[in-house]
Amino acid sequence: MREFFRKFVKPADMIIAAAVLIFAAAAALFILFAPEAATADVYLDGKLVASLPLSENRAVNVTETVVVTVKDGAVAVTESGCPDKICVNTGFVSGRGRTIVCVPERVAVVLSGEGEADVVA
Ligand SMILES: [Zn+2]
Repeated sequence: MREFFRKFVKPADMIIAAAVLIFAAAAALFILFAPEAATADVYLDGKLVASLPLSENRAVNVTETVVVTVKDGAVAVTESGCPDKICVNTGFVSGRGRTIVCVPERVAVVLSGEGEADVVA
């Protein structure tokens, strides 16, 4: 059984991680061609679970361990159960097309709508 896990669990994690990243990139591209009101779209497992207006300061529990906070027109992942905390360390971002991705928690935050397009490839 150990051999089984060593062989199959890691590739599966990689596929999930790749899927999240590809989805976030696709969402960012889509947003560039479909401007609308400035919102932070929160995706969990590739599904849109929340669309937060950036004009409204609030904090939302996306999962039991992940908190997304909107403050003064910017958005951040302020709490996460992931080990690397890359998402939390990203801090507050603003500007259309910006994304915050937490691969371990399978959460992606994508900024859509008005504002500067600022996509880092
Ligand atoms: Zn994270």
